[in-house]
Amino acid sequence: MTNMNCIFCQIVNGDLPSTMLYEDDRVVVFKDIAPKAPVHLLVVPRAHVKNLEEAGGAQGALLGHMIAVAAKVAADAGIAASGYRVALNNGLDAGQVVFHLHLHVLGGRRLGDMG
Ligand code: AMP
Repeated sequence: MTNMNCIFCQIVNGDLPSTMLYEDDRVVVFKDIAPKAPVHLLVVPRAHVKNLEEAGGAQGALLGHMIAVAAKVAADAGIAASGYRVALNNGLDAGQVVFHLHLHVLGGRRLGDMG
């Protein structure tokens, strides 16, 4: 469930500081430490799931919940009307650097093209 070498597990457990904006029994949301947009939040499951391959079909409900929470925190941040991007970097070619599954919620300015 927890990987002691994982920075997101350490944040979930309160062992590393973060600006926490939302918490429930399955996920937490905190501000990205190096924001790429005026609003840049991370939706992170409490359980250590490495990537979509590890999540598999069994975690479908969790993935759906993460997207619902992304929409909620985007609304709370005031960017629902202007629009926002929900992104999941899966693996090296996508630029995943923290191997604990997470969604990025980006908004507050016009975002560039994907890729
Ligand atoms: P990814 O490329 O999808 O793995 O993105 C990982 C994200 O985690 C990056 O946008 C980092 O800026 C962010 N990040 C890394 N360490 C921290 C931290 N301690 N607190 C908040 N965000 C972090």
